[in-house]
Formats: sequence, C-alpha cells, structure tokens
Amino acid sequence: MPENTVKSLGDLLSGTFEPLFKKGSDGIPLFNMYVDGSWSDSSDGATVDVDTPIDRSVIARVPQASERDVERAVASAYDSWQKIRDIPGIERVEIFQQAARLIREHEDNFVNTLMLEAGKPRGDAAGEVHAVIDRLKLVMEEARKIFGEYLPGDWSEDTLGKFALVIREPVGVVAAISPFNYPLFIGATKIIPALLAGNAVVAKPSVENPLSMLLFARILERAGIPAGSLNVLTGSGGKVGEALVSSDKVALVTFTGSTEIGRRVVQAAGVKRLHLELGGKGMALVLDDADLELAAKKCVEGSLKNAGQRCDAISAILVVENVADRFVQLLVDEVDRWKAGDPRDESVKVGPVINMAAAERIHGLVEDAVEKGAMLLRGGRHRGCVYEPTVLDRVLLTARIAWEETFGPVATVIRVRDEDEAITVGKESRYGLDSCVFTNSFYRMWKMAKRLQVGEVTINDLPKHGVGYFPFGGSKESGVGREGIGYSIDEMTNLKTIVFNIEPAKLGKTHRIHQT
Ligand code: NAP
Repeated sequence: MPENTVKSLGDLLSGTFEPLFKKGSDGIPLFNMYVDGSWSDSSDGATVDVDTPIDRSVIARVPQASERDVERAVASAYDSWQKIRDIPGIERVEIFQQAARLIREHEDNFVNTLMLEAGKPRGDAAGEVHAVIDRLKLVMEEARKIFGEYLPGDWSEDTLGKFALVIREPVGVVAAISPFNYPLFIGATKIIPALLAGNAVVAKPSVENPLSMLLFARILERAGIPAGSLNVLTGSGGKVGEALVSSDKVALVTFTGSTEIGRRVVQAAGVKRLHLELGGKGMALVLDDADLELAAKKCVEGSLKNAGQRCDAISAILVVENVADRFVQLLVDEVDRWKAGDPRDESVKVGPVINMAAAERIHGLVEDAVEKGAMLLRGGRHRGCVYEPTVLDRVLLTARIAWEETFGPVATVIRVRDEDEAITVGKESRYGLDSCVFTNSFYRMWKMAKRLQVGEVTINDLPKHGVGYFPFGGSKESGVGREGIGYSIDEMTNLKTIVFNIEPAKLGKTHRIHQT
C-alpha cells in the first residue's frame, strides 16, 4: 500500500527548494510565492490549501495573493522589463540551457510534486518534466523566430528611395495564466518564449496545483533570470486572475483554460493583446477502410491518457456503422489494459481526476448519455476522484457528452452512416481545436483534413501537442492564436517597422519611367 501522502511533500524536496516553504505547526509545508525576486507570503497573510486528488488530503498551503500583491508583481515586472531585454540573446539562451540542466538534476522533485499535486502516474509526470526540459533545450530554434525582415521600397511608388526593417520587439509585461491539467508544462511553455523574447512575466498557475510552477520559478532564479522579470502569484483565479488580466501595465494575456473562463478574460482585459488556448472536443473519425486495431489502440490512448484531462483528448469517436461492431470490440479489449487507481502504484495508467467536482461532473455526463439511450460497456463509476475507464457505445447526438468537453477517462462512441455524416457532426461542434482521422485512403485523408474546421488534424494517430514542435491552437470557440516552438514568439512580440529614407544620399532607386 502506498505511504500516506500528507506531510510527505516537504520531505521529498531537496535543499534547492528550501527558500520556497517552511513547515507549519501541523507539519504541512507553507509555500511562498515569487514576487519581485523574493519568496514571500501574501500581503494579508491569507493562504489556500492544496490537496492531492489521490486521497484529498492537504499536502501544502500557498499564499492567496491579494489585489495589492497582484499590483506589486505587475509593477515589479514592468520595472524589470528592461533588465531582461539588456541581457544579450545568446546569454538568455544560456540561462535556459542551465535551467534544463538544473531540472534534470532535480527531476525527482518535479516528478514527485506532479504525482502528488495532480495525481499523475509516475510515467505521465516524468513525461511532463521531460517535455519542459526538451522545450528549454530547443530555445535556440525558437530564438530564430525573433529575427526580422528587410523590405526594399522599390516595389511600390510610395516607398521608392526607402527601405524598411521590420523587427520583432517584446510586448512588455506578459500575464501567463495556466490550467490544472499540465500544471508545469503549460505554464513553462508561456514563460520560456516570453522571457526568451525579452518580456517580463507574471504567471498564475491553477489554484489546484501551483507547486510545480513554484519549483520551476526557483530553477529559473538559480539559472540567472533577473529579479522581477518573472513573478509567480498563487491563489484562486477569480481573485488573482481578474486583477492581473485587467491591469493596464499588462500588454499581453496568454491564457490557457476553459472557454467559459476565456470569455471572462476577454471581458476583463480591455485593449491589450490576447492569446487564448481554450477548450476542445477532439473528435476521432474512424472510416471503414481504417486499420481498426491501430484506430482502437490510439482512440483509447487519446481518451484515457492523463485521465482524459487533455485539451487534445479524443472526446468523441465517430465510427462508420459498417465497421463499428468490430471496432467497439477492439476498443473494449484495449480499455481493459488500462488500470485505474492510485498513481503511485506503478501498474496504474489512469490516475484520479483533479477533484471530486470533476469526478461528479464526468459522472453526470455519463449518466445523461445512458438515460438518452447509450450503452455503458465499461466503467461508469468512481471511487473518490478515480473515475473508472469508461466506454459508451451508440451515444446519441441528443446526449450532452456528444458536444460538451468530457475532460475525463471516457471513450464515447457515436455511430455514423458515413464520412459525410461524420464531417457534419464535426462542423456542428462549437469547438475547433483538434481532430484525428483513421483511414488508409490518401484522398479521404485529404478531404477530411480540408473540411474539418479545427486547428490541427492528425491522420492515423491521436492528437498530441507534445513539446510544441508543430504549431497548435484553436478555431471557433477553442481559441485565438497559435502555440508552439517559434509560433509562440509571434504571440509574444510586436512588429516594429523602421523606415529609412536613403534618397538624400542618392542611394535609393527613384522613379525613372515618368521622368523620361
Ligand atoms: P479554467 O477553470 O478555465 O482555469 C484556467 C486558469 O484560469 C486557472 O489558472 C484559473 O485559476 C484561472 N482563472 C479562473 N478564473 C479566472 C478569471 N476570472 N480571470 C482570469 N483567470 C481565471 O480551466 P481548468 O479547469 O484549469 O483547465 C481545463 C480547461 O483548460 C479545459 O477546458 C481544457 O480544454 C483547457 N485547456 C486548453 C488547452 C489548449 O491548448 N487549448 C490546453 C490545456 C487545457 P484557478 O484554477 O485558480 O481558478
């Protein structure tokens, strides 16, 4: 039986992380947040509990940042912005390379923290840490997108005798708000390109699991990020997020989270740049010429990985009727290989969902589908936050789960007549983040890829954003902008055009045709 989780987190962290917390009288570590280059509590001393979805016990406390703390963090980022800009690019790259080395050195600290605060099995937690290391290692490639363009003026009458340099400049203060499902990676993929491009950052991780982000800030501090250029505020999003997003000193909000909160961010932000990575309802389309074994294996991974809590999860499987019986059998066989339970048990692949409210919400979706005629072939129950891997077949389009984001370990099969009906269903979704198609016909791959209104279509695999090597982002209500190595830089920089008049030096080309 795995050891008790309570009180163990502080003991799991090495000396590097000592400035981050002190033990409370009950043995539970009380963490600080990172503001203006120092580790501090909130201005009014308020804290909020962080509990583990494994057994819902409290594993840590973090400051509940007040509006004053938000103002202090934003002011610090605003005033420190020049410091990070003054560091030559090649030295900024070296800071990130050093951070990659430090994370590798402290890998266990990160993995253990993610397991406890997010309920991830060890393999998933390690995968998230490795993705951050990879992203840090790839900064040189990302940095190439910070370059600009030279535009000769002699292709327009307006600009004869001139040329322009179009350069990329940092936007200023970036507010980076991240969700609970990849608490380390998603925040890191905002902070890394923002700082790399010369911005200052105020990050706000989810109140559910802010600890790995605090560890990451400590690593960047040790790697040499100037004080104030990165701030991490903890506490509930309603309070901290809104104050942060609406600050006039914030130039860009990069937000990843649900479409519902994304809407609130838009309303509160006022006139500033927005990068929004929102909810998704990834649909897998299984056509009748597909390799069904491959499709079943990938659909299960897409539905169950990270307990289904992925924006790019396969959230509905549209399978063509004439192969559906065989496909569903293969799907069920594969689901039976995914054991759910305590993530510290090495044989478990599906850990708990983030909290009881999430487990109950998922259960509501499953019950609604069954009431409306779906067949429950596996699962459909939860013990605490562990939701059993669930298979629903013959789900009708009247069921909520056909349209709402599941964010839980449920394989939802909707039988369709043919590929055209699958496309029609896909088009009706309010989301447009990911889709995948299983077929062996080149022409059908191409047809589906062109017709589906989503940011990314994957052929013969589950959608996976991974380290962000390929760009991703949403259409429709799944967001605005693109994330990925280099692509994030587009979001985090402004174009500035510098026009040079070279006519006085008789260097520019002038109009000849009208002169003769
Ligand atoms: P969420 O409830 O929308 O929260 C996201 C973040 O916003 C959290 O840090 C939250 O803080 C904060 N927040 C809450 N209220 C806010 C407000 N009024 N103003 C500013 N910030 C506020 O999302 P979640 O439940 O953590 O994550 C799941 C959602 O994220 C799913 O919909 C998933 O699809 C989406 N997601 C999308 C992508 C993508 O790339 N498109 C990737 C991952 C996840 P608190 O937690 O402290 O409340």
